[in-house]
Amino acid sequence: MSEKTLFSKIVDREIPADIVYEDDLCLAFRDISPQSPVHILVIPKKPIPSIAAIADEDANLLGHLWLIIRNIAAAEELDNGYRVTVNCGHEGGQTVDHLHFHLMGGRQLKWPPG
Ligand code: AMP
Repeated sequence: MSEKTLFSKIVDREIPADIVYEDDLCLAFRDISPQSPVHILVIPKKPIPSIAAIADEDANLLGHLWLIIRNIAAAEELDNGYRVTVNCGHEGGQTVDHLHFHLMGGRQLKWPPG
């Protein structure tokens, strides 16, 4: 069995995190190195390594994650807008091999990102 991901350790409370939401399928917690006033990571509890590893059977799970992201953005009062980013692979800037959505807001975000 492959080693548990950093984010699975957060799910299992082996590593502390500032958790803002949890249900049976997903967890959301504040990024340890926030790049905006609100910077929350939303992850499936299922340790899918990246977008590239999403299976057809994960379609409902991915839909659920988007609804939770919407709800968290509303709860964080990001009424002026926000960005959801998923980095994939080395050139995409992914550093943790457990699928995660960056929910960022609370300031004017620039485009394009670096
Ligand atoms: P990425 O570069 O897209 O893979 O994003 C990984 C994110 O995880 C980065 O924004 C990190 O700051 C964040 N991160 C790493 N370790 C932790 C941790 N222990 N708790 C919360 N966020 C973390």
